[in-house]
Amino acid sequence: MRLVVLGSAAGGGVPQWNCACENCRAARAGRIAARTQDSLAVTVDGERWVLLNASPDLRVQLAATPALHPRAARHTPIAAIVLTNGDIDHTVGLFSLRESQPLAVYSTRAVWRGLADGNVLTRTLERFPGQLVFRPLEIGHPTSIADPAGAPTGVEITAVAAPGKLPVHLLRSAPSREDNIALLLRDRAQARLCAYAPGVARVDDELIDALAGASCVFFDGTFYYEDELQRRGLGAARAADMAHLPIGGPGGSLTRLARLPARRRIYTHVNNSNPILDPSSEERRAVDAAGWQVAEDGLEVLP
Ligand SMILES: [Zn+2]
Ligand SMILES: [Zn+2]
Repeated sequence: MRLVVLGSAAGGGVPQWNCACENCRAARAGRIAARTQDSLAVTVDGERWVLLNASPDLRVQLAATPALHPRAARHTPIAAIVLTNGDIDHTVGLFSLRESQPLAVYSTRAVWRGLADGNVLTRTLERFPGQLVFRPLEIGHPTSIADPAGAPTGVEITAVAAPGKLPVHLLRSAPSREDNIALLLRDRAQARLCAYAPGVARVDDELIDALAGASCVFFDGTFYYEDELQRRGLGAARAADMAHLPIGGPGGSLTRLARLPARRRIYTHVNNSNPILDPSSEERRAVDAAGWQVAEDGLEVLP
């Protein structure tokens, strides 16, 4: 199994279009790495790839990743797309994958209903029968990920319920355990597991147990501080209001996940407000010292 980080930023990216915070200014000036919005690509055979989330930056991410370029007049190495929730920063890229290309999309039924019900834009992915194949992920059940024609990719995924929240545009619906998931990825030929949990409001026992089996963990690095937006003068919302467990602080993920056996631990989905984006910050040093890495776009990982 081989993974490539297509995008390592939270919603908005780094820099964010309407932000002139310290990090966004540094990214525009080239002093820190710019980052596109959260997505990973994974392959077992090196030929067919599964996208984990489809960010609004997908077109640029594909252009920057030679392994995902077409190999014939009309072709894509993307065999399937898996969604962890229905947030804009994880789903809008689907609509950039039109041009009459068959697509296989996996998510929980709740996420798919939230995205597709009453959404006229999905018709652009349904121009002919079989163009868009939706296949549900059931929480706790391993699913073999296959291409639109049904050929297995060798990637097996188990959805784990992760505390989160509904997308802002769906606030009126009743919440469900299916609204936000983490993914456990398994290469059927290897015993190794990799976990991907880009949005996590709380670490409960169910999630800890799931992460404990993985040799490589990608985890929600949105905020370092619970009151980070306030500290930086960027807004009133706290990390908890936005359903993201902060990295630092007594109940933060550095402490909560300190005992995970994973060989590789990588923070991704990093918000532009987060001081760990600056390699010289004390927060970044704390993360480094605890054995965590901060994802950058283009990072390749062999779990
Ligand atoms: Zn997100
Ligand atoms: Zn900013």
